[in-house]
Amino acid sequence: MERGARYNIVVTVRVSSLSKAYMMRSDVVIIGAGVAGLYAGYCCGISGLSFTIIDSLAKPGGQCIALYPEKKVYGVPGFHDVTACDFIDKLVPQCLAFEHTELFGHTVEMINTEDDGTFVVQTRSMGHAKKPLCISARYVIIAAGICDMKPNIPATIAGLQDISESSDFVQSCCMKIDMYKGKDVAIAGGGDSAVDFALSIIPIAKSVILIHRRDKLTCSAVKLRSISEWERSGKLKLILKTNISELTERGNERVVTITRDDGNRPLSKPSESELLLGGTEHRSGVYLEVHEHSSTGSTQQEADCGGFGMRSNESKLKVDHIIFCYGFVARCHKLTWLHALAPDIKDGMIAVDVNTMETSVKNCYAIGDVVIYANKSKNIVPCFFEADRAVRMIKSKGADAVHKDKRST
Ligand SMILES: Cc1cc2nc3c(=O)[nH]c(=O)nc-3n(C[C@H](O)[C@H](O)[C@H](O)COP(=O)(O)OP(=O)(O)OC[C@H]3O[C@@H](n4cnc5c(N)ncnc54)[C@H](O)[C@@H]3O)c2cc1C
Repeated sequence: MERGARYNIVVTVRVSSLSKAYMMRSDVVIIGAGVAGLYAGYCCGISGLSFTIIDSLAKPGGQCIALYPEKKVYGVPGFHDVTACDFIDKLVPQCLAFEHTELFGHTVEMINTEDDGTFVVQTRSMGHAKKPLCISARYVIIAAGICDMKPNIPATIAGLQDISESSDFVQSCCMKIDMYKGKDVAIAGGGDSAVDFALSIIPIAKSVILIHRRDKLTCSAVKLRSISEWERSGKLKLILKTNISELTERGNERVVTITRDDGNRPLSKPSESELLLGGTEHRSGVYLEVHEHSSTGSTQQEADCGGFGMRSNESKLKVDHIIFCYGFVARCHKLTWLHALAPDIKDGMIAVDVNTMETSVKNCYAIGDVVIYANKSKNIVPCFFEADRAVRMIKSKGADAVHKDKRST
């Protein structure tokens, strides 16, 4: 495939046509084509560095595309009210406009170094049981994200194991918000993801209930204001200090049992900073008292939420879907391909010097969600900063000069 580009022509390698001894060369190999890897491509291109970008997924975009394509992205300057999918659609042509080689559908299986310090990155393509493909480069940028992502749904919730795998009752994130049109949806969680999902779904869902085990939500003041407004309009129910204790699905009847965390504990007082952040106006929405239930009577809240049958301290909610937004457990077994290189890996993430984004391995950089350093935030904007910094460091080392000879061989 040859794609017209503003600056240059994309070189696409057909794996089937490669001889077994084929070794490609670039100044830089970028592993991962999520936001961080893509923007590293842009930085390489604009700096005149040739690059190969590799991703296991068949298309670029990383977790934005794989996990939440229809959720709006927040906190990215210049991209107000845009879905993750649309954001990536704009990012890809910008970042891959320069001459490069892209290997999508290829998984990096190993990285080694030659005697002169050149990296050799070995990949295998998903659909081909062919010989591995090798790319040599003076520099490597690892932008491999959070590796394997597994939704963090507590296994202790009663009934969870009995939900059929084919059921769409229990979910971890919304892939297509259309599926929630006209539905009763419960969202579990109180952080940014839970609030983001709630705000995306509320306009189209029949009802949304946001259930959080703590007594306040953790998100920006702007989002709190929106939540508060929706809650006042009656389209959103906010249930705090409450856990999900059981899930049951019998035929078309899907029930979420919620249990009050601690009926006797008073709601915590907001700190000064919280008051400054939220202001009293929407604090009334955020610090919502959960009505006490009795086993004999039903409360207004219970009726509104479609509740039926309960024990003390417990409510049952009829919904179509429950979305858990408790984050993801990152399983870092994919990083086994880094073992030969042995960078400093802490808690499944790669430690870097934030001043350079270089790992403990010389000329090997890491950026995006895969890295760890003090006060690292796993969001889109830091990916840009980190990619820019890594490529600046590479450029300052004179990658062009170092690799020119090798490319001409
Ligand atoms: C549900 C959810 C909602 C979010 N909402 C927002 C938001 O609104 N605003 C915001 O700023 N941030 C948000 N984030 C965070 C943001 O998406 C991430 O910080 C950002 O996408 C990280 O990009 P990345 O390039 O580091 O990693 P990724 O996007 O994870 O990309 C890494 C890529 O590396 C590839 N890869 C890994 N190992 C290999 C290998 N061995 N070989 C080949 N390829 C490999 C993977 O396939 C993947 O495509 C959200 C995250 C989640 C989970």
